[in-house]
Amino acid sequence: MNSPNSPGVAEFAWQEFVDVMRPQLSETTKFTVGESLKAKTTMQVGGPARVYAEPTNEVELQRLLKTAHARNLPVLMLGRGSNLLVPDEGVEALVISLAQPEWQAFTVRGDGRVWAGAGLRLKNLCGLAASAGLHGFEFMEGIPATLGGALRMNAGAMSGWTFDVVDEVHLLTLAGEKRVLQRSEMNVDYRHCAELEQAVALGAVLRPRAQQEPQAIKDQIKNFQLKRKESQPREPSAGCIFKNPPGTSAGKLIDECGLKGARVGDAEVSTVHANFIVNRGNATSADILGLVRRIRAQVKAARGIELEPEVMLYGKSWKEVL
Ligand SMILES: Cc1cc2nc3c(=O)[nH]c(=O)nc-3n(C[C@H](O)[C@H](O)[C@H](O)COP(=O)(O)OP(=O)(O)OC[C@H]3O[C@@H](n4cnc5c(N)ncnc54)[C@H](O)[C@@H]3O)c2cc1C
Repeated sequence: MNSPNSPGVAEFAWQEFVDVMRPQLSETTKFTVGESLKAKTTMQVGGPARVYAEPTNEVELQRLLKTAHARNLPVLMLGRGSNLLVPDEGVEALVISLAQPEWQAFTVRGDGRVWAGAGLRLKNLCGLAASAGLHGFEFMEGIPATLGGALRMNAGAMSGWTFDVVDEVHLLTLAGEKRVLQRSEMNVDYRHCAELEQAVALGAVLRPRAQQEPQAIKDQIKNFQLKRKESQPREPSAGCIFKNPPGTSAGKLIDECGLKGARVGDAEVSTVHANFIVNRGNATSADILGLVRRIRAQVKAARGIELEPEVMLYGKSWKEVL
């Protein structure tokens, strides 16, 4: 997405945007100024969005994108907020969330494939697929994401990646134009999908691996749930804070540096899993940044490896702050 904190995005441009947009949106579309993002993220830190919208349907989503694009105003998508660090000062952007029912579809098509909306939570996707006897989505259980966020991040667990089950992604460009991309046309790798860096995923056609007894699928999901419970902290977090460097695990490196339990303010390196930073109550984004810097410095000094954040610094690039 465009860089939202770039200087010179004038106050009046945002006011004019709000004034122009309001009459074009239905009452069911949420459209607010200065909405706090803190409670909309799993880390539970951070400031407000300049403008925030939950569009009711694709027409209104398109209007929002086109109007912002015409004014060169930055747009950021928000999923479940489970991979984000929102700065304490908030973001100078139009933040769009696909939280409305329109975006939660799960439809088994005649050809056996599934249409799933980008606002659908993976937990629900998994449960609905299991009930329909569709095997192949179990690995998604426990990733606290929307499908849109999981596509953008190519989220993965238990040896599976989101794009393992994707055939086709439907998206809007930031200029509001609709595109349908086949899996083979998309550049996807570890925690990254290039085509969604500057676009809004609307949903995807997913391909189940096979038809199976629902109970067998549910048992596998339970199995994965138990594994997660044993290995992940319960406090608010944004999941793994760093990407695994080639050939090793970030958690192992951090643990070997004796950093479990290290704190800056209320931000703490989890004692359960060293690649998680948890919010012990009143952590700020600045606390978490401070701890990220400390971990990177210690791992670099001890092992010569530069850990790269997996969590996204919302509306900024990590290079600006590290
Ligand atoms: C307890 C915990 C466990 C986790 N476990 C895992 C795990 O096992 N594996 C894993 O990979 N991750 C894991 N994560 C991280 C996180 O859940 C994933 O990165 C997930 O894909 C983020 O999805 P989200 O909907 O929360 O997106 P957000 O965090 O809201 O956004 C992430 C990125 O996606 C973009 N985005 C969101 N929606 C759209 C859309 N519709 N179109 C285009 N871009 C969009 C955002 O702009 C942002 O750039 C975990 C996190 C937590 C808190």
